Amino acid sequence: MIALILFGPPGSGKGTQAAKLMDKYGLIHISTGDLFRYEMGNNTPLGLEAKSYMEKGQLVPDSVTIGMLRNKVEAHPEAKGFIFDGFPRTLAQSVALDSLLAEQGAEVSGLIMLDVSDDEITRRILGRGLVSGRADDLDEAIIRKRIEVYKNETSPVFDYYHQKGKSHQIFGIGTIDDIFERLCATIEGFEAEPHGE
Ligand code: AMP
Repeated sequence: MIALILFGPPGSGKGTQAAKLMDKYGLIHISTGDLFRYEMGNNTPLGLEAKSYMEKGQLVPDSVTIGMLRNKVEAHPEAKGFIFDGFPRTLAQSVALDSLLAEQGAEVSGLIMLDVSDDEITRRILGRGLVSGRADDLDEAIIRKRIEVYKNETSPVFDYYHQKGKSHQIFGIGTIDDIFERLCATIEGFEAEPHGE
């Protein structure tokens, strides 16, 4: 099974690239942000809880997020593999993902970070907000908070998988197709590389 973590700050292009990777490799795309927005749109208890964190640019608690992710993975026993987009965002989520995959005799194949500067992501997110109407994309203070949360709470996930020999980084600026090519080249190199150390 392929289990790919698409990693990077908010606005780095994870969702756009995940949609293309899903088509090319026949993987199931799981975006925890999209799942929370779906729940919010339906005013479910989970959605209402998530909303109180999302509108401040904070992370939804691990217990809630991990439970939701587990349900989604377990709903696809036939899957050839998964692209995780926006998950894991904390070390606890990384450990939970590893054990969930281990239960299925699988493991993370690799993590790829899209490297984009703070100025560029702020510009992209504000542009996306005008189209999507996402409240957390329209307010510069919330965007700054999300970037800070990424640096403090989420970037250790890169190091966690780096220690397992699984973290990769690509330059995330260029055309959508350029970045997609860089991603595919990295994915196709996964098997060739020794893991560990
Ligand atoms: P995203 O669409 O990935 O930018 O996520 C939007 C918001 O959803 C984030 O700012 C968090 O509030 C929440 N969220 C999404 N994924 C996670 C996660 N893995 N852990 C905690 N909160 C999350």
